[in-house]
Amino acid sequence: MSGDVYRNYINGQWLEGQKITTNLNPSDTSDVVGQYAKADADDCVAAIASANKAFDSWSQSALEARKAILDMIGDELIERKEEIGAILAREEGKTLAEGIGEVGRSGQFFQYYAAEVLRLMGENTASVRPGIDVEVHREPLGVVGIITPWNFPMAVAAWKVAPALAYGNCVVLKPAELVPASAWILAEIISRSGLPDGAFNLVMGSGREVGEKLTSSAGVDAITFTGSVDVGRHIARNCIENMSRIQLEMGSKNALVVLNDADLQSAVDCAVAGAYFGTGQKCTASSRIIVESGIHDEFVSKMTEAMGKLVVGNSMTPGVHIGAVVDERQLLQNLKYVELAKEEGAELVQGGERLHLETDGYFMSPALFINTSNEMQINRDEVFGPVACVIKVDSYEEALEVSNDSDFGLTSGIMTTSLKYASHFKRHSKSGCVMVNLPTAGTDYHVPFGGRKSSSYGPREQGQYARDFYTIIKTNYSKPY
Ligand code: NAD
Repeated sequence: MSGDVYRNYINGQWLEGQKITTNLNPSDTSDVVGQYAKADADDCVAAIASANKAFDSWSQSALEARKAILDMIGDELIERKEEIGAILAREEGKTLAEGIGEVGRSGQFFQYYAAEVLRLMGENTASVRPGIDVEVHREPLGVVGIITPWNFPMAVAAWKVAPALAYGNCVVLKPAELVPASAWILAEIISRSGLPDGAFNLVMGSGREVGEKLTSSAGVDAITFTGSVDVGRHIARNCIENMSRIQLEMGSKNALVVLNDADLQSAVDCAVAGAYFGTGQKCTASSRIIVESGIHDEFVSKMTEAMGKLVVGNSMTPGVHIGAVVDERQLLQNLKYVELAKEEGAELVQGGERLHLETDGYFMSPALFINTSNEMQINRDEVFGPVACVIKVDSYEEALEVSNDSDFGLTSGIMTTSLKYASHFKRHSKSGCVMVNLPTAGTDYHVPFGGRKSSSYGPREQGQYARDFYTIIKTNYSKPY
């Protein structure tokens, strides 16, 4: 294999594979982002073994050393966010600004968990029996297998790798096949951070081979996965076989409620940003826009007007608002859902077409449907593209009911100037994150993130709550003499 191939990182060494993956820019398929060594099941076994070998040393490492390593990784990501963000945008299709933003955010995850290293306090309490002390404290869990999707190729890896290492665990990271470049860059930075060999491993392989091996191996103590529901369910079954701990972040069908008393312009801005930015390829995207009848017509007219100003194009072109769809398969799936919605009787008011632009890529105009009902398939399935549907309702109560009527429950939002409805919605919305007068997409890194129903399974990610997944609790009893 030629020296131009980016390799897997196992046991502190950069290793070739038997095959390669060619990483293409979805905004311009003549642009090759790079050639990446494809890991196989044997590479995965080697990575798991090296992570287990490194565990003794990393789990016992001094807290200041651990903090310094995480700080170094975070600082370098932030310093190089423009350069790395451009590569991320080229491999995933999101706009350059979004790519740079994602790399900056990834750095913040490392900086945040660098500080958290020093905050892992335990508890000390009296026993129910006289003369006995009780301590409850958290220990590193072991080897964590991390499986990530293509839509946030750097951020999802960062929000899992940073707490895993911060709490003293060793890692085997398997990124999505479509986007190895961002994970490889993260691995390259980590390889220079001073982490012991084997404490972090990168295996860039297929879900079917490498993912399967990682999730069915007894040498892995926990699996954290972000991706689709079907794969998540399958992984959970594998993990239970080995009694490995599981954390799953999966699909969504997020609702944004717009009430009659909403500020119209804010409602339109939040709906457009939530539904279409990131090419709609966000697990937090607003795909169901539930609008009260009194504001419905005005809202639809203003939203259509705002959509008309959105520029779809090559992710690297300045002024582009909506980049490319990640690949041909996803684009065809989006278009299939547009056709399905029409067949179901939904009315397409704007977009929903494949666009052929200057560069050969996977472009699609953002689609808005009206006259849809929550029972339609288009409002039940996750599309994962720039497609949103308006559902007209007659009251706040109906809006809440429709919003909660979904198999998913990741984020939800309400646009209103009424404290009464905002407060009620925060209490009664059956989702993991509720937004008031904000887009359903866009979260902070220092607080928990996750959903309900088929959107999430297991402990929350991010913030201090991440320690519930990445640590194991020990209770010590002692009788001092
Ligand atoms: P996917 O499920 O196809 O793949 C996700 C990862 O799982 C990839 O790395 C893939 O190679 C791997 N995989 C596939 N089959 C596997 C198997 N049998 N065993 C182990 N690993 C396997 O998802 P995707 O298409 O990459 O991403 C899109 C999905 O991710 C959407 O459903 C989206 O909602 C979800 N997502 C959720 C969140 C969240 O936080 N809830 C965030 C981002 C994306």
